[in-house]
Amino acid sequence: MRISKLFGKTLREVPSEAETVSHQLLLRTGMISQVAAGVYSYLPLGWRVFKKIENIIRDEMNKAGGQELRMPALQPLELWQKTGRDLAFGKGLFTLSDRRERKLALGPTHEEVITQMVSHNVQSYRDLPKLLYHIQTKFRDEPRPRGGLMRVREFTMKDLYSFDVDEAGLDQSYKKMLQAYQNIYTRCGLPSLVVEADSGAIGGKDSHEFMVIAESGEDEIIYCDSCQYAANVDKAQSIKEKIENGEPLPLEEVATPGMYTIDEVSNFLKVPQSHTLKVVFYVADGKFVIAVIRGDLEINEVKLKNTLHCFDLRMATEPEVIEAGIVAGSASPVGISGFKIVADESVTSGTNFVAGANKPDTHLKNVNYPRDFKADTMGDIARAQPGERCPRCDGRLSSTHGIEIGHVFKLGTFLSEKLGALFTDEKGVSHPMVMGCYGIGLGRLLAAIIEKHHDDKGIIWPLTIAPYHIYLCPLLREGSRVLEVAEKLYAECEAAELEALFDDRNESPGVKFNDADLLGIPLRVTISPRTLETNSVEVKWRSQKESELVPLEGITTRLTELISQGLSRLSDLV
Ligand SMILES: [Zn+2]
Repeated sequence: MRISKLFGKTLREVPSEAETVSHQLLLRTGMISQVAAGVYSYLPLGWRVFKKIENIIRDEMNKAGGQELRMPALQPLELWQKTGRDLAFGKGLFTLSDRRERKLALGPTHEEVITQMVSHNVQSYRDLPKLLYHIQTKFRDEPRPRGGLMRVREFTMKDLYSFDVDEAGLDQSYKKMLQAYQNIYTRCGLPSLVVEADSGAIGGKDSHEFMVIAESGEDEIIYCDSCQYAANVDKAQSIKEKIENGEPLPLEEVATPGMYTIDEVSNFLKVPQSHTLKVVFYVADGKFVIAVIRGDLEINEVKLKNTLHCFDLRMATEPEVIEAGIVAGSASPVGISGFKIVADESVTSGTNFVAGANKPDTHLKNVNYPRDFKADTMGDIARAQPGERCPRCDGRLSSTHGIEIGHVFKLGTFLSEKLGALFTDEKGVSHPMVMGCYGIGLGRLLAAIIEKHHDDKGIIWPLTIAPYHIYLCPLLREGSRVLEVAEKLYAECEAAELEALFDDRNESPGVKFNDADLLGIPLRVTISPRTLETNSVEVKWRSQKESELVPLEGITTRLTELISQGLSRLSDLV
């Protein structure tokens, strides 16, 4: 490809709207272009990278026994209502009406469609297992699209769905996918970490995410320094240490004038925060809820939402708290009625807690569970924090940030039951199929690769997914034969099916080198009057500082060798 003909321009300036490195570099290299919030076009260079990632994913899915198929983006809303997941996705689901006022959804995922299709095509245990996948555009109405390709509203996903006769079969399929995913990331040059995850709106029980560790990642990962335990903070657990505070004593009111926060109350009464109880007010599916947790811990709203089994959860507003007749700053689960109380299990981890008294400027000492209050629901709603003890071993937990680049779920039978995806076993008895689903967002993966592979000059593409392998860079000077040699070399590269981007522009060496670095093409081949003095070209890897002079004679053979060695280095790791 000649750069003079290439559609898409490089930008010198960092676009002000872009916060993450990948977003900045994708815009500066002219690889993507924004159409609306969270909606992007891919330009030719970006699209080449995209297609290479797609092919790696397709290859690994096929090797794992997956069969590719195609499903529509337009789906009857009725199908979503059958499984109840229209409510689980809530406002994230794009819906529309057709000319006959029939309700449709733009698929954010395709479990409903595929499960229904499988129910029509599979009847016997002999037809199972099945691994079916597609690579396709999906839609989610994200509340806050951001980070360029990181969080978008229209995106391409590879989703594979597995159908098995039992849990053991599902375990096998799940294992195959975990391995295939690891292969995909290795081939894309991305080191990944598997962490336990929350299933969210998809549903099901076990779920894992693949993470790339990165400062810019919006997910927090809690992991153990001593064992393999690692989990998304929305799923992570920790040991809540027992608080030694003596035998339960009688309740006692104390005056706490002007003390509202846990911090103020614990300082004023000279008790550690772990000896206090904190209440937080929420509205869950329209109902006022009081959440109680030990004062030194924080509530994780995803865990709270799962414990409450609700679709919609938010903090209560100040007017709502006042309307509920609650004395903010001194609110207490003790003696309150008419509201649902959800408690973190940490309220049972000690005795004689300090809590509010539901009276202005007053708190209660010696609050004990369940003597003084009862919870309608109890569970683990606490945010695991670094420094706490690991739930698996005696180690300490740490925290880091990551970008989620894949998510796999053991769905079980809840969808197959609702949609009638049944099979008959050897004895003719009917059972629901046991399902799993396995997703990778391609654009997100592309952005994550840039987050991991760049420097202050630009992108450093891994060879496997680079838009082109070679940046052919003639430094033109009047009266020299540089252009003539470069044209000939470019023609030879084309003939040898080498992927070369030919910088045939009449620009200065500085401009050309800057663009070569910015675009991140792995091999730069420079032809200048100086290299021609020895009938050679300068060959330099984008990822390395050193360059070498390579004779022009047999140059395409040498370049082919370098590229195939580079490519096999990544696939050898698989
Ligand atoms: Zn551990």
